[in-house]
Amino acid sequence: MNILLLGKGGQVGWELQRSLAVLGQVTALDFDSREHCGDFANPQGVAETVRALRPDVIVNAAAHTAVDRAESEPELARLLNATTPGLIAQEAARLGAWLVHYSTDYVFDGSGQRPWTESDPPAPLSVYGATKLEGEQLITQSGCRHLILRTSWVYAARGGNFAKTMLRLAQERERLTVIDDQWGAPTGADLLADVTAHAIGHLQQRPEDGGLYHCVAGGETHWHAYAKYVIAQAQQWQPAIKIKATEIAPVPTSSFPTPARRPHNSRLDTSRLQATFGLTLPHWQQGVARMLAEIL
Ligand code: NDP
Repeated sequence: MNILLLGKGGQVGWELQRSLAVLGQVTALDFDSREHCGDFANPQGVAETVRALRPDVIVNAAAHTAVDRAESEPELARLLNATTPGLIAQEAARLGAWLVHYSTDYVFDGSGQRPWTESDPPAPLSVYGATKLEGEQLITQSGCRHLILRTSWVYAARGGNFAKTMLRLAQERERLTVIDDQWGAPTGADLLADVTAHAIGHLQQRPEDGGLYHCVAGGETHWHAYAKYVIAQAQQWQPAIKIKATEIAPVPTSSFPTPARRPHNSRLDTSRLQATFGLTLPHWQQGVARMLAEIL
């Protein structure tokens, strides 16, 4: 199997380099790759890459993920999250290739408390959410064989992440304030990459199972409880870490005004993914504990 991986340097892209390797020959590109264009700001260049490489499967992990910055650069966000994925989908349709793509809980408006299902109507609050939704729609409309995984709160051991920021702040400050009214599930880039590889294998046997799925770790939490869990685990495993913070105070989203509005309810119902692909998604604490063991 020939696989084209786009966005190889991101959180998910990095883990996909590992998980896809067992499926076949992987060509992995980033925005500054030399031999073939992987720059999503150049849609025709990326389309030409697909035509030249003729992959069986395209996995797109590239995106404009700077949620607040997207509010002030909507054209670029649309190009990276919608226009270029849409063009890739058209090339995939012509080739008969599979396109695997990632989307987000931010396609929903965050109302209510029930986990969102794939058939719930999206209503994005932000430019990021709107451009990611448009990307989904362009892929679906292209008629290509596709798998779209909507996920949330992605972290990885590599690079910066929420847990590392909380650990640093807890060592610097006596009091932390963390939002407690946005609910969701922290999801490891390694889990997403493993699910992707498993699903690609499954789809070779059962192509009719393609489509849109929600893919997040099990359980649910809010950022405040997530921060408390991270700090408690770090103290338990690394007593040498000197935690200065004596208070981790819960605060509402309104305490941290940001350019982009974020959904309060980011819970995603994963029953369709688990039933279709025969998967059990582990509890979010399991993945976060593993990531902490790596970084501490
Ligand atoms: P990252 O931001 O870690 O990765 C995105 C990658 O896209 C980076 O390597 C980035 O490069 C690259 N990129 C930026 N601009 C371009 C460009 N012009 N051409 C090609 N590549 C470019 O994101 P994640 O790995 O976390 O996200 C993977 C997918 O999951 C995305 O589709 C995202 O929308 C989705 N998702 C992510 C969530 C999260 O919390 N992170 C939540 C829900 C969904 P560079 O780093 O150099 O800018």
